[in-house]
Order: sequence, then C-alpha cells, then structure tokens
Amino acid sequence: MAKAIYPGTFDPITNGHLDILTRAAQLFEEVHVVVAVNVRKHTLFSLAERQALIRQCTSRLKNVHVSSFEGLTVDCLHRFGAEVVIRGLRAVSDFEYEFQMALMNKKLDATCETVYLMPSEQYTYLNSSVIREIAALGGSVSEFVPAAVDAKLREKLGPTRAGVRGKAKKTKVGTRKT
Ligand code: ADP
Repeated sequence: MAKAIYPGTFDPITNGHLDILTRAAQLFEEVHVVVAVNVRKHTLFSLAERQALIRQCTSRLKNVHVSSFEGLTVDCLHRFGAEVVIRGLRAVSDFEYEFQMALMNKKLDATCETVYLMPSEQYTYLNSSVIREIAALGGSVSEFVPAAVDAKLREKLGPTRAGVRGKAKKTKVGTRKT
C-alpha cells in the first residue's frame, strides 16, 4: 500500500477533514497530515494549536501522523517518502483550483499523484473559514467540528449563543471559501 500526505491549513480541523482522513487511513499504509506553515497567512489557531487539535481528533487512527511543512507540496511528498497527495473535493467550485494544482505538481514532479476523495454529503458545504465565521458571531458549530475543536473555539472566541441559551441555533452556511 502507498503512503500519502494530506496537506492543508486546518484552521481548525472540521468533521469534513476528519471524514476525508478516515477514508484515506483505510486506503493508505500511512497518512501524514501536513499542516501548512505560511507566515504570510493569518490563522485563528497557531501551528502548534492546529497540530494538537488534529492529534487529539485522530488518536484512534493509528496510521495517521501529524506534521508541518513549509514549501512545495512535491518536496513535502519526498520528505515523508510518500507517493500520493490526498485532497478533498466538495463541490464543483473546488474543482478548477484543484485541477490546476494537481497538474502543476505533476509538471514539477512527474511521480506526484493526487487522489481526490469526496466526503459524505452532509460535509460538502463545510469549510474552516465558515466555521470560524459562525463561531465568531456566536453561532453553534458543535455539529460541524469535533468536541475538542468546539471547546477551543469557545475558549478563543467566547461562548456561543447556543451555550448561553442552552439551545442550538440553526445557522445557514454557504459554500464560499476565503
Ligand atoms: P478549508 O477547510 O478552509 O477548505 P484546508 O486547507 O484546511 O481548507 O483544506 C485541506 C483539504 O481538505 C483540501 O483538500 C480541502 O478541499 C479539504 N477539505 C476541507 N473541508 C472539507 C470538507 N468539508 N469535505 C471534504 N474535504 C474538505
């Protein structure tokens, strides 16, 4: 079985990321979740916090390892002795960017293969930025993220309206990524 990397920002990890990771862990010998180090990109959670949350949420997946990387995806692949890049495909809106990235990575290194996995339907509209947005505005995100992430969001951003009123408020979310 091949080894894979799953690169991303994971700011923070959501149930959608976890869905993809659980599928990947069944298909590959080892999966390295590689948290992007990007000093120019402002993130809500620090690199150490994002890694700690992913470790907490994936402890049951024994062949999943958490690391970080700064640089080209193709170089990251070699660092972990992996052959495959895992990416999640949610909607058609992901496709154009992903298509470009996969072809560019192949141009940089002909051995680089990208495998796209689709999450369960209920996660197709989920992304980290919408989670941060809802949580910052006091909405409940408990059904979209693992409990450890929910707790950390409350710690950083204050209590949600659901927590204050003891009742989950339905919040409409879109598919737009930032
Ligand atoms: P974001 O979660 O903000 O889209 P990331 O860089 O953290 O961005 O995403 C890392 C990878 O996980 C990408 O391939 C992205 O398409 C995928 N991904 C993110 N959210 C989901 C989801 N809900 N379902 C499936 N794949 C997802």
